[in-house]
Amino acid sequence: MKYEPTIGLEIHVELKTKTKMFCASLNDPNEKRPNVNVCPVCMGHPGTLPVINQEAVRYVLICGRALNGKLADYSQFDRKNYFYPDLPKGYQISQYKFPLVEGGELEVEIKNQKSKIKITRIHLEEDAGRLIHAKDETSSLVDFNRAGVPLMELVTEPCINSGEQARKFAEELQLVLRCLDISDADMEKGQMRVEVNISLAVKPPLGGLTAKLGTKVEIKNLNSFRSVERVVEYEIKRQTAVLEAGEKVIHETRGWDEDKQKTFSQREKEMAHDYRYFPEPDLPPLKISELGFDLRLPELPEEKRKRFKEKYELKEEAVEIFVRDFTMGKFFESAISHLSDEPKETVSLASNYITSDLAGLLKESGKTFSDLKINPEMFAKLIAMADKGEISSRATKDVLKIMFEQGRDPEQIVKEKGLEQTSDDSFLKNIVEEVVKNNSAAVGEYKNGKENALQFLVGRGMKLSKGKANPAVLQKLLKEKLGE
Ligand SMILES: [Zn+2]
Repeated sequence: MKYEPTIGLEIHVELKTKTKMFCASLNDPNEKRPNVNVCPVCMGHPGTLPVINQEAVRYVLICGRALNGKLADYSQFDRKNYFYPDLPKGYQISQYKFPLVEGGELEVEIKNQKSKIKITRIHLEEDAGRLIHAKDETSSLVDFNRAGVPLMELVTEPCINSGEQARKFAEELQLVLRCLDISDADMEKGQMRVEVNISLAVKPPLGGLTAKLGTKVEIKNLNSFRSVERVVEYEIKRQTAVLEAGEKVIHETRGWDEDKQKTFSQREKEMAHDYRYFPEPDLPPLKISELGFDLRLPELPEEKRKRFKEKYELKEEAVEIFVRDFTMGKFFESAISHLSDEPKETVSLASNYITSDLAGLLKESGKTFSDLKINPEMFAKLIAMADKGEISSRATKDVLKIMFEQGRDPEQIVKEKGLEQTSDDSFLKNIVEEVVKNNSAAVGEYKNGKENALQFLVGRGMKLSKGKANPAVLQKLLKEKLGE
């Protein structure tokens, strides 16, 4: 490729504090009734005064720490002046010269290749309200529940070079935010909104020094990881075509049409906005060290990946499932701690039953791990029974289903349903007699050297025993019988 894409991201994240950024109104993203969580402060009434939400400041600082950024000691809020119907005050309180965090990085991995995406800054501001446009386009309504909700803005360096890398960065950031428990960062709900800035630089001719920077295009408000990736891929193609045709890329803001999988022009950027930033006169500057914040970090996703790989020797897919779903990961670890010893096979058996069977049952019923009736100790009991061959894998699945529905002890269920596998000699010898008697064709094939026939006979025996026979013992007895 003759052109080199330069991509930077701006990501807005709604923080999950109890109250809004500068007032005591509730910060409740699930509130469906419009204009319920409002007060004179977030409605911008004259004479009201904002008060800084300390928790929101701490959230941004802890995020900065998790991303290895430099935490400010001095910070201040500024007014960003502009008019829009969803902005009651006529300005947004944001941060300009003194953000809470500068620098930082987040590592992403693509096909075993790790790269560090540099972060420019992270600052804190307030969200605007939400405009709802009537279908006939004759009127618009505005809901101010969101106005004044704490909003974290993270800006990366323009160091991303593919759609996949952009998507991975956003995905990993979401994991970190959830792990820190500072935002649910649900993109579909608008709790995490990604803006892509992309330009194509013309690669220097051989021996040349620097690439000639291209014209920047912004694509705003992407609300899925997939669209982040697609937007970048689409824009690389579109801008390449424009340049190849000898035309100029226009400096503009574009939107993403999900149905057509295309970007479209929204507005040209004739000049930079003049927001007339100035220090917010109604808020004191912050001396961070004097605030005594607790900024201890929990185990971060990357650390957890490492630990799960090393300690439990799990496959990469399983590790990723447990890292992405905290409650599932926690359930797994808790269950493992209830197993008497933790040989690799038992641990991987537990991991398989959690990630496939249990996760499947949850998905089917539309529930999550926090709704689970099975406690980790009971689950561990079931795994121990399966591991020792006391119940067949079929029976394990059946018992798990009953446990899932009724939350009962697996031993009880096994006894009640008579599911214990048996290695009892006389019981199994009777089964063997019966199988051999009724399947003379397969017996003949086996005796003629067809090994597959033995599996068939074991299957018949398992069925005859209603799953109670221990398959290994059954196979051994059958072999003995037919070898006579
Ligand atoms: Zn308010």
